[in-house]
Amino acid sequence: ALKVGIVGLPNVGKSTLFNAVSTSAKAQASNYRFCTIDPNVGLVDVPDERMKKLEELVQPKKTIPTQIEVVDIAGLVKGASRGEGLGNKFLGNIREVDAIIHVIRCFEDENVMRDEGDINPVGDKEIIDTELQLKDLESIDKKLQRISKAARVGGDAKMKAELAVVEKCKEWLEQGKNVRELGLTKEELPAIADLFLLTIKPTLYVANVDEASMHTGNKYSEALQKAADAEGAEMIVLNNNIEAQIAEMEDPDDKAMFFEEYGMKEAGLDVLLRAAYKLLNLNTYFTAGVQEVRAWTIKDGWKAPQAAGVIHTDFEKGFIKAEVMSYDDFVSHGSEQACKEAGRLRIEGKEYIVKDGDIMHFRFNV
Ligand code: GDP
Repeated sequence: ALKVGIVGLPNVGKSTLFNAVSTSAKAQASNYRFCTIDPNVGLVDVPDERMKKLEELVQPKKTIPTQIEVVDIAGLVKGASRGEGLGNKFLGNIREVDAIIHVIRCFEDENVMRDEGDINPVGDKEIIDTELQLKDLESIDKKLQRISKAARVGGDAKMKAELAVVEKCKEWLEQGKNVRELGLTKEELPAIADLFLLTIKPTLYVANVDEASMHTGNKYSEALQKAADAEGAEMIVLNNNIEAQIAEMEDPDDKAMFFEEYGMKEAGLDVLLRAAYKLLNLNTYFTAGVQEVRAWTIKDGWKAPQAAGVIHTDFEKGFIKAEVMSYDDFVSHGSEQACKEAGRLRIEGKEYIVKDGDIMHFRFNV
């Protein structure tokens, strides 16, 4: 599964959010720093309205949503890149994720400890950004030491081009900017692919506000929104405490009442997970049979064999062809048989790029 890491300063509400997200609910929210030292990992279902519709039409024995992995990365503090507060360990955990959810405190509460003085979302964001940038600079400098001499003395054009990209990243980071905003081209990206830079990862900001501001935002979340806009990033306003309460409710009626009381249409978490999914450029295709209706996650642009490989590597290796219906056709005709009769079931080959919502059936050799 694709991995999303939750980062942020201590006591901003990361664990609270993670608890809400995680079905395993292993993390313990607490008012003490470093209480959650090991990254906590949870798998969450990606909410998708289309699953309900498919379930109605196909009446399968079971329905299995697609999931993403969420990791609670606790303990980032100022100085983490120099190893403060186990900082290096936490930064290492970020290296392994595909995208970052950066939680920022936008609520006042004197009972919740805070080392950085007055509530200051933009300042908090910068503290974390800076640590990640410093860590990236460290990786970049190591690479420069390795390649700069060889590239200058007798290096071929390819090495020189690589050096230029690495130097460009260095300059950018030194200006306090994230590599993801540098707009490196497809041709340039391989030059730094081996570094697994932290600031190149797609990032979504969560403004964790108090209950009174959950629908409207507040002055803190507004300030943060401006900062996010300036770098072309997405931000979501959430009240993590409320999300944690919702996540604990098992009875759908209780949940509905709670939503009513708080004027909510859906859990903020669902909004967050969909945004994370979009951030990662992910698409969903479905398999829909009487045994099960199931959603599968692929990246934008994947071809049919690669998509088949998500189900099983044998499907990819032995791929022959795929039978494909679009979600809209399936819903409007009502069944695979009806799609077939209407000529809406296509046979596609190895080069077919799977679309979001495709309903797929793979043929393969074993
Ligand atoms: P972490 O260190 O970032 O993981 O922070 P936690 O999730 O452990 O939260 C720290 C404390 O802040 C806990 O006591 C939470 O109950 C509290 N907290 C989290 N979100 C909110 C919020 O939206 N409003 C208020 N008032 N407190 C919150």
